[in-house]
Amino acid sequence: MQYVSTRGHAATPSFSEILLGGLAPDGGLYLPAQYPQVSGAELDQWRKLSYADLAFEVLRKFATDIPEADLKALAHKTYTADVYRNTRAGEHAAEITPLRTLEEQGGKKLVLQSLSNGPTLAFKDMAMQLLGNLFEYALAKQGAELNIVGATSGDTGSAAEYAMRGKKGIRVFMLSPHKKMSAFQTAQMFSLQDPNIFNLAIEGVFDDCQDIVKAISNDLEYKAAKKIGTVNSINWARVVAQVVYYFRGYLAATTSNEQKVSFTVPSGNFGNICAGHIARMMGLPIDKLVVATNENDVLDEFFRTGIYRVRKSAETYHTSSPSMDISKASNFERFVYDLLGRDSARVKDLFHKVETAGGFDLSGQAGSDGNEFTSVIQYGFASGRSTHADRLETIRFAEKTYGITVDTHTADGIKVAREHLTPGVTMIVLETALPAKFNETIREALGRDADRPAGFENIEALPQRFEVMPADAARVKAYVAQHTGL
Ligand SMILES: *Cc1c(COP(=O)(O)O)cnc(C)c1O
Repeated sequence: MQYVSTRGHAATPSFSEILLGGLAPDGGLYLPAQYPQVSGAELDQWRKLSYADLAFEVLRKFATDIPEADLKALAHKTYTADVYRNTRAGEHAAEITPLRTLEEQGGKKLVLQSLSNGPTLAFKDMAMQLLGNLFEYALAKQGAELNIVGATSGDTGSAAEYAMRGKKGIRVFMLSPHKKMSAFQTAQMFSLQDPNIFNLAIEGVFDDCQDIVKAISNDLEYKAAKKIGTVNSINWARVVAQVVYYFRGYLAATTSNEQKVSFTVPSGNFGNICAGHIARMMGLPIDKLVVATNENDVLDEFFRTGIYRVRKSAETYHTSSPSMDISKASNFERFVYDLLGRDSARVKDLFHKVETAGGFDLSGQAGSDGNEFTSVIQYGFASGRSTHADRLETIRFAEKTYGITVDTHTADGIKVAREHLTPGVTMIVLETALPAKFNETIREALGRDADRPAGFENIEALPQRFEVMPADAARVKAYVAQHTGL
């Protein structure tokens, strides 16, 4: 399997060659030169597999340069009942992503797929845990080391730290805005005592953290000398790991390959639902892929109108589903590449226009950049949005009607999914976090605290390890240099 850049760079690297990197040299994103196909016979065989074995079957189609025995061992080390143990009553941890029927009426069926039973209680663990093991494996092979520098407002940073803690050859330097994360998220990250994890609390906001990471990434000399890497949502291995649970959800919700399902996905950077698109391109019988956004509705706008208009900082709202508070969707380019028939020259032009003019228009109207919006429907995409008031209402409704507490992001998903139910096609909503992570809004909706999984009861009381630092890239660089000895 060879990979290509969405912007047409000539090199065609292997899976292992793009594993530790980010963007392609031309600023594009990597995709397989061709999507591997899954036959009906294969799908039938996969129905019987454990999650780890299914993950291996999917991974081996993409990571063709890693020996199969090694890949299988990595999948089995990652997808265990112990790692994904934060289940609700009635769920079996061994299923890794258990399904639960929420409602069934008049042929319409709504099902929840739990993706948040991993160590940090959010779906990012599904991919990040695999990435930690893949990185450790690849670095050991090369006798190399890697220093990950990242910025987080919550979920990504904690998932990365829990995936990389104690891993040989890897250090994590995670920047977060000082005193701006929830008490629970802060405690999750700062209570880690592993010597390879460094929490830097930056005196500023999330954008300041992100700017420092960008400054470090742009200093190519420093980056090479200090062996700096990232784990952001454009990482291809993360996307592949996410493809697995779409297969799993389909196989668990159906009994024959004649049946179709739809997925509704709470979306921010388009990473999660991009994996759904890829599963569909591989031949998984998916009817609709429904994008659910919050008030930051840049994606909903595109899927309703064909116009992609990124938001300025002042137009980006802080909402009660904060992991979806994005101004532009960093993985969207992967879908646009397919939508444009893999015309990399046009992709390059359009995303150049995003930088210079703030967006592009594929609506087909006079003066637009193209008419491909008419083809969106062939790819199964639909969308909807939700507001704070919708979230509160949906959290109350889920409690009363389904008997479960859902987090704010999943509430956005359920609200939008219910608007897209079709008789005869099971709708699967992806649960992207457990409610304990966003307790402030659960209290607002239900007047009580969310349940916490065992082991998280007193997390705020644990000793914390972090360094407060001004929003100054030079200071962060010096800190990284000092603690890597490079
Ligand atoms: C990251 C995240 C999302 C958004 O996922 P994307 O891949 O960026 O679309 C949604 N919900 C939660 C809880 C998250 O942590």
